[in-house]
Amino acid sequence: ATTAAVTTTRVGLAQEKPRALGTYVRDVCIIGGGASGMYAAMRLRELGYSVVVVEKAAYAGGHSYTHQDAATGLHTEMGVRIYPDVDIIKDTYAKHGVKLVRSKINGAKRIYVEIASGNEGPYKDPNVLVSGYSLLKYNLLFKLKYGYLENAGINLPESVPAELLQPFGEYLINNKLDKGYAPVTHYLQGYGPARKVPTLYALKNTRVAITNSILKDNFWTPEKGTSEIYRVMGEKLGQDLILNAVVNSVTRPEGEAKQIVVNTPTGISVIAATNLIIAFPPLLDRMTAFDLDISEREMVSKFKANYYWTAMVRIENLDPEIVLLNTTGDNVLEGQTFPGMYTAAPTGIPGLVNVLYGSETLMPEDEVKARITTDMEKLNGSFTTGPVKVIGFERFINHTPFGVEVDLPDIVEGFYRRFDAFQGLRGTYYTGAAIDTNDTSSVWTHAENLVTKYFPSKV
Ligand SMILES: Cc1cc2nc3c(=O)[nH]c(=O)nc-3n(C[C@H](O)[C@H](O)[C@H](O)COP(=O)(O)OP(=O)(O)OC[C@H]3O[C@@H](n4cnc5c(N)ncnc54)[C@H](O)[C@@H]3O)c2cc1C
Repeated sequence: ATTAAVTTTRVGLAQEKPRALGTYVRDVCIIGGGASGMYAAMRLRELGYSVVVVEKAAYAGGHSYTHQDAATGLHTEMGVRIYPDVDIIKDTYAKHGVKLVRSKINGAKRIYVEIASGNEGPYKDPNVLVSGYSLLKYNLLFKLKYGYLENAGINLPESVPAELLQPFGEYLINNKLDKGYAPVTHYLQGYGPARKVPTLYALKNTRVAITNSILKDNFWTPEKGTSEIYRVMGEKLGQDLILNAVVNSVTRPEGEAKQIVVNTPTGISVIAATNLIIAFPPLLDRMTAFDLDISEREMVSKFKANYYWTAMVRIENLDPEIVLLNTTGDNVLEGQTFPGMYTAAPTGIPGLVNVLYGSETLMPEDEVKARITTDMEKLNGSFTTGPVKVIGFERFINHTPFGVEVDLPDIVEGFYRRFDAFQGLRGTYYTGAAIDTNDTSSVWTHAENLVTKYFPSKV
């Protein structure tokens, strides 16, 4: 932090009013103030690097968003909710003085509803012995065959096992895990139908750190909500976190400082940074401001994503104790239908329901809201206390692009190894879920590994 103070300058120059011009000279510019970007920023500062974080949203934290209910003073989550029992979570929270509390996931009553009719379907969760046995078997197979997926990043052997390229539904059936493990596939929310997700991404997302926490019902959640740690980190960053920022251009001349021009509501900021960390999903259409060369363009053009939205919806007449899941028929793997909800879950705030909604194709937000309204108002069964009525949307978040993947032939051809070789080229590094998985503990570990590997301590 001392070095950061010395090497840091921020000059406010008068421009045509009311626009202000800010100039930042930094060791590292991090684009994306979500889980991985904020973690990397804090660690780089500890190691003596000056940083600036450029975040397009009005808040830091990415998929972490705690919804505050003004009427009751209660809060609930619209994205990240729980963390597995792993050291990087506990240590990082302790370091920033943010309190974690235990979060129990077992015990909530779950009902599987058929989207088309809105009625309860025939599928029921397996009993605890069957699911416990399947989780243990899943863990055993994972550790035996794919232990390398436990580590941050997508580290694959040169010859990628064919099983990892199978749809996850087939993997579960072939390993006789479909009955007991299949309900756990709701951890893959945001990835589309779990049966279709390539096994590599499914295992990577639900790794043993997660399934162990499921087995032991041993999760953590922040007492004041998941936004809190990013608020605290943001406060520490102060002016080194630029919110509501649109990256206008990124120019990376060889051997010189990289120049990042950013539009903000108060004016234009120009950043000169020795290095750049890209901490958001680098899909080609998100990289138009970057001076990509042919090989970078070729790499990022491989990424594709799923479509995922969450909504805080005021709904009348839904049982406040029951989590609703999407399954038609008696097979949880075959039964997930999209577009449709992953879940509609009570929030603990009377009348407020958290609807998680997915689609395999892009949809405008108004259409998503209209579909959620139609689907919710169709609901009818033991979990309703009268005709279901959607009163309104209190908040709506677009989590797209989510569950970033590349095509199977690219995985086989060693895409992730090739991508890894890009780390540091043109002073540019990458972290985050697109090259890891959608789990906070994992992307924090990815950012930790990146920082310790490429940014030796200056203090
Ligand atoms: C609904 C939901 C529930 C989840 N639940 C959990 C959970 O319970 N536990 C858990 O551990 N994980 C959970 N996750 C996954 C977790 O949130 C992600 O793994 C994690 O946020 C990924 O971190 P990241 O840094 O890669 O991306 P993000 O956290 O998404 O951060 C990327 C940031 O970059 C910003 N950005 C994008 N483009 C630009 C640009 N051009 N310029 C500037 N900024 C840009 C975005 O606004 C965002 O803030 C959940 C995710 C969702 C969507």
